[in-house]
Amino acid sequence: MLTEARARTPWLREGACVPQQQVVRDFGKSRAKALRDIKAGLPIRQRAGMPKCKRKREALPTLEYTRRGFRLKAGRLHLAGGIVVRPVWSRELPKTPSSVRVYRDAVGHWWASFVVPAVIEQLPATGRVIGIDWGVGQTATTTSDDHDLPHPQHGRTAAQKLARYQRMMARRKPKRGQAASNGYREAKRHAAKLHKKIARQRQDTARKWAKKVVRGHDALAVEDFRPKFLAKSTMARKAADAAIGATKAALVEMARKHGRMVHLVHPAHTTMDCADCGARTKHALPLSERTYMCTACGVSRPRDKNSARVMLVRAGLDPAGADRARPAPPPGGRRREPGIPLASPGGGVKPTDRRRAWRPVPRP
Ligand SMILES: [Zn+2]
Repeated sequence: MLTEARARTPWLREGACVPQQQVVRDFGKSRAKALRDIKAGLPIRQRAGMPKCKRKREALPTLEYTRRGFRLKAGRLHLAGGIVVRPVWSRELPKTPSSVRVYRDAVGHWWASFVVPAVIEQLPATGRVIGIDWGVGQTATTTSDDHDLPHPQHGRTAAQKLARYQRMMARRKPKRGQAASNGYREAKRHAAKLHKKIARQRQDTARKWAKKVVRGHDALAVEDFRPKFLAKSTMARKAADAAIGATKAALVEMARKHGRMVHLVHPAHTTMDCADCGARTKHALPLSERTYMCTACGVSRPRDKNSARVMLVRAGLDPAGADRARPAPPPGGRRREPGIPLASPGGGVKPTDRRRAWRPVPRP
């Protein structure tokens, strides 16, 4: 099939066939998965989407080279088809990579992402556990006062600029069937660059916080938050969701890197349950009510702190491990109540997951 297409299309013939073969294979794989999901009668939300056709003019280039399609020699990346690039290495590769994906992002930078087996850098045990609840006012509320993360407000300063570029794009929008003007493309590039900047700021804050949390605790009980990007939601809600998404991803990745246990807790009723006696209020608390008062046992706590504690209880972790001010030397490994299973409702994080290392490469 590919041979025929290459015989017919000159621009296809110019490139190496290794990444093209991979594109065909990826397409086949995702199509087969989509068909399998339809056949299995999964609800649409859980189905894998059918792969869409891309236009060469609009799609961003992405090429995957498997084991035989690339070689690393003297710090240079040799790709099939006689292409040699000298990447700007962000860090040493921990192991021999099994494949590499070379792609261009919306800003126009070229990247090479290598797939290497994950290496776990075990941190010393602390004997402490933490519960984490996500929110709008404060990105993360935890059972430890030192580890709360206020909403960093990235994007607030950029919002004005972004609005300007989006207005420019709207004004210069090409008519149907017409090629985009240079001005439109420029505005689009500016907007993409700004988006990238905000995303990087978010990631930076998230990683620093995640490192601190992971270093200080053996086990994490985290609300399994899934943002719903509704068209109706406010800008503040969208920004908060994006911040939570980046923070949760960084936390899970950091925990895996350092061999910590992550329990993802289903968010249902976490604001209505009492963390002490387990009683559930009859009605959801209005958002304006900032204190949780239990009618059954009389305990009163800030609302988000109660939720963070509920995470711990739901994950089967001992809340006493969160209250201790100073970490005691761990008495032979992890501190856990006997008889409580360490099963995680959302599935723990497998330490065998592969990790991707991202590296920028100069434009070829
Ligand atoms: Zn109670």
